Amino acid sequence: MTTEKMGFEAEVSRLLHMMVHSVYSDREIFLRELISNASDACDKLRYEGLTNSDLLKDSGDFAIDIRLDKESKTLTVSDNGIGMNREDLISHLGTIARSGTSSFMENISGDEKKDVNLIGQFGVGFYSVFMVADKVEVLSRKAGEEKAYLWSSDGIGEYTISEAEKVRNGTSIMLHIKDEAYEFIEIHRLKNIIKTYSDHVTIPITMISKSEEDGAEDEETSERVNDGTALWARSKSDITEEQYKEFFHHVAHAYDDPGMTIHYRAEGKIEYTVMLFIPSQQPMDLFDPARKTKVKLYVKRVFITDDCEDILPGYLRFMRGVVDSEDLPLNISREMLQNNPVMSSISNAVTKRILSELEKKAKKDKDGYNQFWETFGPVLKEGIYEDFARRDQILKMSRFYSTAGDELTSLDDYVSRMNDGQDTIYYITADSLEAAKRSPQLEGFKAKDIEVIYFTDPVDEFWLQMIPEFDGKKLASVTRGSADLDDKKEDDNEEEKSPELEALLSVLKTNLGETVKDVRKSNRLTDSAVCLVADDNDMDMHMERILKMHNKLDGAASARVMEINADNDLIKALSKAATKKGSVDLLKDASQMLLDQAKIMEGDLPDDPVAFASRLSKVMEASFK
Ligand code: ADP
Ligand code: MG
Repeated sequence: MTTEKMGFEAEVSRLLHMMVHSVYSDREIFLRELISNASDACDKLRYEGLTNSDLLKDSGDFAIDIRLDKESKTLTVSDNGIGMNREDLISHLGTIARSGTSSFMENISGDEKKDVNLIGQFGVGFYSVFMVADKVEVLSRKAGEEKAYLWSSDGIGEYTISEAEKVRNGTSIMLHIKDEAYEFIEIHRLKNIIKTYSDHVTIPITMISKSEEDGAEDEETSERVNDGTALWARSKSDITEEQYKEFFHHVAHAYDDPGMTIHYRAEGKIEYTVMLFIPSQQPMDLFDPARKTKVKLYVKRVFITDDCEDILPGYLRFMRGVVDSEDLPLNISREMLQNNPVMSSISNAVTKRILSELEKKAKKDKDGYNQFWETFGPVLKEGIYEDFARRDQILKMSRFYSTAGDELTSLDDYVSRMNDGQDTIYYITADSLEAAKRSPQLEGFKAKDIEVIYFTDPVDEFWLQMIPEFDGKKLASVTRGSADLDDKKEDDNEEEKSPELEALLSVLKTNLGETVKDVRKSNRLTDSAVCLVADDNDMDMHMERILKMHNKLDGAASARVMEINADNDLIKALSKAATKKGSVDLLKDASQMLLDQAKIMEGDLPDDPVAFASRLSKVMEASFK
């Protein structure tokens, strides 16, 4: 029989180096990781077995055994779950595939002390065994397959794989415990660790050891160690904060603290139990295009699937935890779950509950809610255009920054601050808060003390298209249409019409031709010379940029309206020049440079960057002569 030698992926080697040399004081978490993998493996087999009962034929009841042997200084964790074949062993235990590990690697700083604490935060799964073992052997046979394999490594650079014998499907992981980690073959120590981290695991965990009594040498004792009642089935008052946290880590494969815990039992026509968590950090896959929900579905305490699209809407995909139904059949398959009426009424009720819990938090704990909003607001806002029935509710729950200050604010707050006679809610959309704040289009609004909301998430453009008003007030972008900022429009305009400015406007129109839709005097600028705005019926400029970025724009971008600031010194000088003969060429360059300037302020490139640079050089040269 051949033994293949293989190298770990470079990233894994780095990680293993850390584990092997780790002086982390909570090394005990390795057992939590092994038990969690064993329990996942049993859940997976049970689920596969629903559609392929052959897989379960020699499986018996699911069980996790932990066997200690003081003589050989080994600890073995075995399960009768799904198991791994050769390819699985190579990809799961030789590369970094799982999300938790790669985010761990991204967080590594090189500072040993800091990095060691990350181990506790992230767990880093299987590889943590090398904190306590100097050799690890994984014997595994995949359910439904004949061959078994032995994976073996000392955690330094390489591992070997060879064919092996194993009677039943499942995985057996043998740790050869390091001398300085001897505590991990003490039965009491191990029982304690399991109680702390894995008590809620629903699969029975049995500890098996050689009897320590005199004269009973070859006898084994075995003892069930975990309680095994599903944590969510217990009453709230019996669960400690610490237990909730450990369960969140287990169920979410996460290592942050839960930001919010929702645990209740619904009784009535449809019965189910909910134990859901809002993480305090964004999970890695939050913005994956698949927008998958990760909540686990159980039926009467039995795991069914964590891949059920209908359990919660996509805009709540940051939720983690368990929904356990009393009404669905135990052998329900993925296909049967789709459009299932029980499932949709559970989903509907749970969604309602989550939103109302969040509303409560917004009232009671503003800082906590704002923190939630910063982390998951961009996802929740997808509900504004996806969930018609809850549109207004989510809109009211939404928070934004605005010109009013540095604190997050709501639309209701904005409305309560509106000036007398103001009938419009003004906003600006941009890629970031910084970009929004810099926008020249805001100048006039600031000068008149009119609050403008900054919408800076890509999703904002999408819901804004569908929401023309809030609370009876029109929503309007400050980069679009005319800004009604004049107090006495008509009179002012008449008074200020200057022949010089009119001359400049017509020169600009002639020079810029089709590249702009119109050139007009601005009343939204106070400092800057120019800005661009979208015409009333044209697409918002920021929206257009987003679509362009995603190659979703059909046809050419719309031409913009260029606005100039009559009070700006440059515009004044150009206006003078426009009435004089002999500055035709200079004005041609100036027209193009004004437009390019406005584009740059929008975060765009000038139409022709090279020509822009050469014009700029000409002007600089002239000013140094
Ligand atoms: P995670 O559990 O977060 O995926 P781990 O590092 O703990 O990451 O495990 C990596 C992968 O190895 C698992 O996703 C699983 O596919 C596989 N694995 C680990 N232990 C077992 C086991 N006991 N039975 C079957 N597969 C396992
Ligand atoms: Mg794991």
